[in-house]
Amino acid sequence: MSYFGGQPTNPFGAPTPKPPILKRQVPPLPENLDMATLADIRCSVNIFSPATGEIIEVVVGVEKRKFHVHDQILRSGSAFFKTALSKEWKEGKTRVVLLPDDAASLVDRYVQWLYTGKVGVTLDNGKTDYATLAGLYCLGEKLMHDAFQDRIVDALVSGTREPNNNAGHPTTCSFPMKDVVDDIYKGTPKGSPARRFMVDMHVMQGTSGWIDVERPESVNHEFAVDLAFAMMQERAVTGETKTKHAELNRGIPCSYHKHGKDGVCGGKA
Ligand SMILES: [Zn+2]
Repeated sequence: MSYFGGQPTNPFGAPTPKPPILKRQVPPLPENLDMATLADIRCSVNIFSPATGEIIEVVVGVEKRKFHVHDQILRSGSAFFKTALSKEWKEGKTRVVLLPDDAASLVDRYVQWLYTGKVGVTLDNGKTDYATLAGLYCLGEKLMHDAFQDRIVDALVSGTREPNNNAGHPTTCSFPMKDVVDDIYKGTPKGSPARRFMVDMHVMQGTSGWIDVERPESVNHEFAVDLAFAMMQERAVTGETKTKHAELNRGIPCSYHKHGKDGVCGGKA
């Protein structure tokens, strides 16, 4: 994605700003700055002219990849950064925030979104990259950035409405399932709206093929319980189902007998 050219989108939903009146000089650029960071800073100067200009170093992952982001931008939506960068905390004094357990590729996209309001989440084949969206949503959970998470949900929902034009199934859509569900459940707390979305998608659109019965250990346990609960709440017992289970309805237990080798029923019936 390029940040150059075009009118940048204000990520905070305010009307597109007028051409800025710069009150400050562009801050001196940190050393060993890569082009992406440079683009970020230029872009931010266009959008947020009153920014303090103070730059925070965010060091991400085992590879310790460095991102240089405006203090004001980091704090504007993320409760995590708001706290971490307050003067009482070490990070607020050193102006360096360490995120050793997070993926640099995800933080990279988060920073892109902070400055441009856009994030690329399409695979090479044109399909929605649900795995990345799930990762971003969970990053938003950690950073406590509700608006960012809501935009990720927008992309998830939008992805489920895009016709999948390959594989000879022009009318089918692709849906987040299996590993994506697992990722969302591992990165969010009970009651998370993204968890509800996963369950509701399965209730409304899911087929039996969405559940990997051959590898039950691969199905997220909490999700399986939520889904079972939701299916029971939403269940409608049809006439067909009543016919199928007519014996059970009449209290006849033979469907559940083994009947041994000779096939004779030893029960009361
Ligand atoms: Zn029997």
